[in-house]
Amino acid sequence: MPPADTIVIVGSGLAGVSAAGTLRESGFGGRIVLVGEEPELPYDRPPLSKGVLVHDEYAALVASHLPTDIALRAPDNITLRTAAWYEERRIELMLGVRASAIDAAAHRLRLASGLELTYDRLILTPGARARRLPAVETGTVPVAYLRTLRDAIELRRHLQPGRRIVLLGGGVIGMEVAASSVLRECQVTVVELATRIMSRALPAETSDYLAAYHRAKGVQLLLGTAASAQAPAGAGLQLADGTTLAADLLVVGIGVQPDTQLAQASGLKCEDGIVVDACGATSAPDVYAAGDAVRYPDAFFGRMLRSENWMHAQNQAIAVARNVLGATRPYAQVPHMWSDQYDLKVQVSGRYDTAEHVRRGDVARNKFLVLHLEGGRVVGATGINEARDMKYAQRLIEARTVIGAAQLADPAFNLKKAAGA
Ligand code: FAD
Ligand code: NDP
Repeated sequence: MPPADTIVIVGSGLAGVSAAGTLRESGFGGRIVLVGEEPELPYDRPPLSKGVLVHDEYAALVASHLPTDIALRAPDNITLRTAAWYEERRIELMLGVRASAIDAAAHRLRLASGLELTYDRLILTPGARARRLPAVETGTVPVAYLRTLRDAIELRRHLQPGRRIVLLGGGVIGMEVAASSVLRECQVTVVELATRIMSRALPAETSDYLAAYHRAKGVQLLLGTAASAQAPAGAGLQLADGTTLAADLLVVGIGVQPDTQLAQASGLKCEDGIVVDACGATSAPDVYAAGDAVRYPDAFFGRMLRSENWMHAQNQAIAVARNVLGATRPYAQVPHMWSDQYDLKVQVSGRYDTAEHVRRGDVARNKFLVLHLEGGRVVGATGINEARDMKYAQRLIEARTVIGAAQLADPAFNLKKAAGA
C-alpha cells in the first residue's frame, strides 16, 4: 500500500474524532481533514439523554438557543475534544457541511458545498439516524426524536414539571429519557411493543428489575402495546386497542438506521450498514469505515454484526485508523454498553443468552452482577451499580476463563484475583 499524504474522515462523531486522533498518535504526518454535517464542535452523545436533559447548568444554554440558531456550540463539558486539541494535531475541521459523493476511482470526495477533496485514504464514520414513526407525526401534540445536541436542547424545553410525556419505545432512549423526565418532575408513560423494556440490550431478569425500579419512580409502563396515530383534537396518542393516552409531548425512540446514504449512492456494498472486513476496509479501494454505521465480522459472536454503542464506536475507529496506516490487525472487542438511569449504572458485556447464570451482590441494595456462563466459561455479565466487578468480569470474558458456577456464586470468591488484576 503506497503511503498516504491526505486522509479524509467523513463524520465528526466519536468514531471520526477517535480515528483522527489515532492517526496522529500513530505518527501519521500528512493532512487530516474531518468533515462533519453537524455545525457544533464534535460532542459526545451519552450526555444528551442524561445530563443535558437534567442538570440546571444547561438551563441558560436552552434559554439562549432557539432551534433555528445555527451558531449553537456544544457546551464545554460535552465536547469530545477542545478546539485547541484539533489545532495542536493539525486536524482540519470542516463542520456544517455534508459529504455528498465519493468518486472512488479518482479518490475524490464531493461536499454539498461544491468543494472537492482529493484523498489517499478515506474513513467513513457517518453513524446513525433516529428511525422515524410517521404515523404519529401528524397532529397537534409535538413529537421529539433524540440523536443530536439540537434534539436534546429542544426536548429539554418540553420537560417542565407536570407535563405528560409519552415515550414510544422502551429501549435505551426511552428508558433514559423516562428517568430524566421523572427527575424533571414530569408524568411519564412508556409505550413499548415488546413485552419487556430494553429487550435488545438486557436479559429478562435485569429488564424486569429495571422495570420495577421505573414503576416505583412513578413511570407507567405499557408493554406489548402499539400506538397507531395521534388522537383527534390534540387529545394525545391513540393506541392500537382504540384507547387514548393523554400527552403533552411524544418522544419517539424506536431504534436507529445506519447512515449509509453516502456509501450507497457511491456504490459501496451496504447491507443494513456499510459492509467492512475485519480490518475495516469497505468494498471500495482505500475507503474504510467504522462506528455505528458499519456491519462487520464480529470475532466474539462469530457473525456479521452492527453495534450501536460508545465503546464499539471508539475502539473500532482506533483499530481502523491503525489499519489505514498499514497495521492489518483485525478488530476484536467484547461488546460492552452502559446506561445511566436515576442513580443506577446499568452495564452489559458479552452475551447474556445462556441457560446458566449466577448472581452476585444484593438486588435489594440495587447493587448486583449477573454472570452468564456457557461451557464452564463466563461469556457475559450484566450489572447494576457494580462498575468495579464488571471490569473484572470483562477480563474473565476476554480471557475465556474456566470457572465453576458454585465458585462464582460464593460471595467470598475474589473476582479480582480470578481476573488476574
Ligand atoms: P455518530 O455519533 O452518529 O456520529 C456520526 C456523525 O457523522 C454525525 O455527526 C453525522 O451528522 C455525521 N455524518 C453522517 N453522514 C455524513 C456525511 N455524509 N457528511 C458529513 N457528516 C456526516 N452508548 C453507550 O454505550 N452508552 C450510553 O450511555 C450511550 N448514550 C447515548 C445517548 C444518546 C442520546 C445517543 C443518541 C447515543 C448514545 N449512545 C450510548 C450510543 C453512542 O453515542 C453511539 O454509539 C456513538 O455516538 C456512535 O458514534 P459514531 O461516531 O459511529 O456515530
Ligand atoms: P433501541 O433499539 O434500543 O430500542 C427501540 C425500542 O423501541 C425497541 O424495544 C423496539 O422494540 C421498540 N419499538 C420499535 N418500534 C416501536 C413502536 N412502533 N412502538 C413502540 N415501541 C417500538 O433504540 P433506541 O431508540 O432506544 O436507541 C437509539 C440509539 O441510541 C441506539 O443506537 C442506542 O444504542 C443509542 N443509545 C444508547 C444508549 C446507551 O447505550 N445507554 C442511550 C441512548 C441511546 P423491538 O425491539 O421489539 O422492535
